Amino acid sequence: MTTEFTSLNLRDEIMRAITELGYSTPTPIQAALIPIMLTGADVIGQAQTGTGKTAAFALPLLQNFQPQKQPQALILAPTRELALQVADSMSEYGKHLRVRVLAVYGGQPYGPQIGSLKRGVDVVVGTPGRLNDLLERKVLDLTGIKTVVLDEADEMLNMGFIEDVEKILGMTPAERQTALFSATMPPRIRALANRFMRDPQSVLIKRTALTALAIEQRYYLVHESDKTSALTRLFEIEPIKSALIFARTRAETATLANELVVRGIPAEAIHGDLDQNARERVLGRFRSNQLKVLVATDVAARGLDIDDISHVFNYHLPDDAEVYIHRIGRTGRAGKTGVAITL
Ligand code: AMP
Repeated sequence: MTTEFTSLNLRDEIMRAITELGYSTPTPIQAALIPIMLTGADVIGQAQTGTGKTAAFALPLLQNFQPQKQPQALILAPTRELALQVADSMSEYGKHLRVRVLAVYGGQPYGPQIGSLKRGVDVVVGTPGRLNDLLERKVLDLTGIKTVVLDEADEMLNMGFIEDVEKILGMTPAERQTALFSATMPPRIRALANRFMRDPQSVLIKRTALTALAIEQRYYLVHESDKTSALTRLFEIEPIKSALIFARTRAETATLANELVVRGIPAEAIHGDLDQNARERVLGRFRSNQLKVLVATDVAARGLDIDDISHVFNYHLPDDAEVYIHRIGRTGRAGKTGVAITL
């Protein structure tokens, strides 16, 4: 069963923001976690980056958003990069609610961060060290905190931040909601959860990243009329063992395959009109490396069982992000790395 965003009953302002971002359905961790967090329960999420975990905690947090004087949510992250990334996502998701988000991290002057805090901030995202400094300077008020999120808790432990994390948690109101995310659950993190969380519910999401890490993704901006030349050029410089090129229509696959053959690249089109025999013949030649390039439509590529594609090309971008992910997932399989190139 797939959950739809509409069944989560999120506020209109949130729905508008995620629709504008092009999200159509919740990822597994979002489907599992959002309903739990909406009940106000504490949660432990075991999931990696790339699974959509930021929205999984950000959306329920925003659902409860009500303007108040002090910050109402605190998110702890191990690095400046993650803090910035989470803060950016949070302000995107919360833009129609006019949520004020601030990222704080070390290596930055205190002045602007303190200035922002004085003017008023709703969500603070920060690294434990800097948050602690701001608390010691008494410029960060945690008395209004309703939700605390610990993102990549195991990384905060590895980086020696765990005592800062505990100290900060101890300064937030006891009735807060706490969400903890960690890829692994070392004993020290378990102990922290036992001490600071109330009957946490666990959600474990296996590696179902939206986009696989083994795939290098690139794009080139080229004019429509220059695409075939660009493709030819890429074939000269890329170490291509076998490639699958996605085109929009049956006619386009045929034209493109011909153009490539003319340029000395062994290519064939595969589309819905080929009969089973012709299709098998083409695939057989591709599998045995006699044929280096297949040009296909999405429909024709369905059910193509080939594991060893070094490059996927999007001759055009698909309209749907899921189609894109499905397409590029044809490379980087079976422990190999792959390259996905969009023109
Ligand atoms: P994260 O794991 O939170 O770093 O998210 C990974 C990427 O997935 C980000 O670029 C998000 O914008 C994107 N994303 C998160 N949720 C969804 C969704 N439901 N549909 C499509 N993309 C999503």
